[in-house]
Amino acid sequence: MSKALEKNNIPNAFKSIYDQEIAIRILTNSIRNKRVSHAYLFWGPEGVGKKLTAKAFAKTILCPDKELGGCKNCNTCVRIDKETHPDLLIVKPTGKTRLITVDTIQEIISLAHFRPYEGERRFIIFDDADRIGIPAQTHFLKTLEEPPSNTTFILVTANPGLILSTIRSRCQPVRFQYLQPETIKRILIEEKSLNPDEATKLANLSQGQISRALEIYQNSKPLVILEIFNKLVNKKDPLKIAEEFEDFLDTLRKTAEAEFSINSAEKKELTPEEINQLKEILSAEIEAKVSHEFESCLFLINCMLRDMLIYHQTQDKSMLYYPEAVEIYTSWQPEKIYSALEFLGKVRGYIRRNIERGKVIRDLLFALSPHF
Ligand SMILES: [Zn+2]
Repeated sequence: MSKALEKNNIPNAFKSIYDQEIAIRILTNSIRNKRVSHAYLFWGPEGVGKKLTAKAFAKTILCPDKELGGCKNCNTCVRIDKETHPDLLIVKPTGKTRLITVDTIQEIISLAHFRPYEGERRFIIFDDADRIGIPAQTHFLKTLEEPPSNTTFILVTANPGLILSTIRSRCQPVRFQYLQPETIKRILIEEKSLNPDEATKLANLSQGQISRALEIYQNSKPLVILEIFNKLVNKKDPLKIAEEFEDFLDTLRKTAEAEFSINSAEKKELTPEEINQLKEILSAEIEAKVSHEFESCLFLINCMLRDMLIYHQTQDKSMLYYPEAVEIYTSWQPEKIYSALEFLGKVRGYIRRNIERGKVIRDLLFALSPHF
């Protein structure tokens, strides 16, 4: 047995994957026991390294350096990284509809029945596997029932519920976890060239997902939230601020609607069944996006209130998410901050119980205002 696969050793290719010990253990064991499955379901939050792990898994098996279990530098590993290796196929949803159709699945299935070109095994990775259309899923199911030898399918998804249960039950599930703030900080510094202060702050705001950290980095939301607190200090009418905040959320909804729409040319390429499924997926995605955006706003408000408390207690700027806002923090008394936090804690419940969002936002603004 190669050194990489001796008990307690981690194959080299997995060493650049962080905070996913359980997933890595499952995969390493399956190589060690020579029981590499025909199909895996990699599921868990967005932006925590699922696809990266799938590629590392392919390296562990295809890299000629069996001692190390993936060397990073050989022709095989380099081409896997670049996604140009002939035995690695990454299937992504394409076109604006972003649906993997029956035609695509048929092509993939016929490919899967040929021997791999170079290595001992072919890897077919579905990035966003929940985007495989239902007719295509039904088709794919038949393949999973009699899987081709030498091919491993990896279905990567943050929404396993959108995949037919009959498909899920034929895949070995591999669950992925949220990342630690330290990991996110390191990735932001090393791979995105952010400075350490900025990286620390974003890592703390990221809720364990690198994609969320980048989204906050590239997004206007933190500024919008900061602006709300500035207006409150300056005694602007909370009702007016609530209105502006709702306008902001409406803009986000319109952006999501534009992003998730289908035009007539695209519709022509799909069956009526696929169009219906797509409409359902798209409207679910718009709702999910809008509520995700609203959640992020609540989270940022929460961070700011937390900052105020810490600053009141310690006068230490270094522990704050929003150190640039300390000048206004003294306008809030601790008891006001506690009651605002208490209200904020109830907001999700109100929204779940379908209390009109506008009313919740107005009440929230009054709860946040230091002058009421
Ligand atoms: Zn290699």
